[in-house]
Amino acid sequence: MAVEVLVLREAAAGEKRVAATPETVKKLLAAGARVQVEPGAGLAAGITDQAYLDAGAQAAGAAARAAAELVLCVQPPPAEAIAGLRQGATLVGVLQPQADEARAAALQARGIRAFPLERLPRTTRAQAMDVLSSQAGMAGYKAVLIAAQLAPRFFPMLTTAAGTIRPSKVLIVGAGVAGLQAIATARRLGAQVEGFDVRPETREQIESLGGKFLDLGVSAAGEGGYARQLTDEERAEQQRRLADHLKGIDVVVCTAAVPGRPAPKIVTAAMVAGMKPGSVIVDLAAETGGNCEATRPGETVEQGGVTVAGPLNLASMGAVHASEMYARNVYNFVALFLKDGALAFDWNDELLAKTAWPAAPEVAAAEAG
Ligand code: NAD
Repeated sequence: MAVEVLVLREAAAGEKRVAATPETVKKLLAAGARVQVEPGAGLAAGITDQAYLDAGAQAAGAAARAAAELVLCVQPPPAEAIAGLRQGATLVGVLQPQADEARAAALQARGIRAFPLERLPRTTRAQAMDVLSSQAGMAGYKAVLIAAQLAPRFFPMLTTAAGTIRPSKVLIVGAGVAGLQAIATARRLGAQVEGFDVRPETREQIESLGGKFLDLGVSAAGEGGYARQLTDEERAEQQRRLADHLKGIDVVVCTAAVPGRPAPKIVTAAMVAGMKPGSVIVDLAAETGGNCEATRPGETVEQGGVTVAGPLNLASMGAVHASEMYARNVYNFVALFLKDGALAFDWNDELLAKTAWPAAPEVAAAEAG
């Protein structure tokens, strides 16, 4: 018997990514799965239905959702779609169960064993499964390209017959995975790049990419490699120094985040008002409210001559490579419990135990006892 795996066609508006590629379909088959792919699932990511068939998958019919034991997706399926899944099925994706009550209720009503990949512990072993990192890399890259597109200037220094053009000054706020990719991308475009973060170890990472570390006198390393929330005094100090600095900056790309919280507000409306007309802010944190007070998620607005863009789902803009990476992440995670044509969950494996939602009964019992 083979495990029935279903690759969903994404339902969310504007979502172009897909959770499996022909490459990962082949790997799933080799692990003993029978893979069905919903028609059109990969088209926006450059993968035809035929390419999946050539890899050994089958076209999913109307009955596939109610039959699949393992369902792969990028974004959470709508609650109605969850209600149509097989009782007790396993669902893998960026599911954010707590973000939507109807979704959480649908998952629980169906007894779905959900693995929201955003909950994956960020250990060394988990790196190959880390969708937050792989997708943040694409988001950071695209954010800089959007900034370059909106900016009324060149990024690089140019020496021309019409005189010398000075390079753009680009500031990247937050130097996590997205921020570091943004720094690297802005450098490749020839800009003068600065970055800052509250985690002190980012100084070396920013410098290794050819950026300059902007020291705002605040250090706030938290647990698990993440930042912690700043105290009021730290925030005030960071803001005072930043306000001054922004007056000389042409382009700001915001990427700062604190897990499980709204994005920290770092660039205030007053700071935006103090920037030169023609400056550009691209706020990659728009998804969680934005780092800039002037950001309107999903919109590009102008304030006093400063353009502020709050693009959403940037990873989807690079759907081909984002899907390639996402699908590998998903396969590597699934390989923890899909073996020899069966699903077997080892709850002693922290990557499974800590990612599962709700906690598997075995894990919940061990924690209670
Ligand atoms: P994230 O998206 O949660 O945050 C982005 C960045 O914003 C972080 O660098 C954070 O320090 C910064 N930030 C938060 N508040 C800020 C503030 N007030 N001002 C300035 N910057 C602020 O983080 P992420 O990019 O997903 O990951 C953060 C770090 O976690 C990585 O850079 C890495 O060190 C670690 N990590 C480890 C692994 C692993 O080992 N498997 C994988 C991924 C990430």
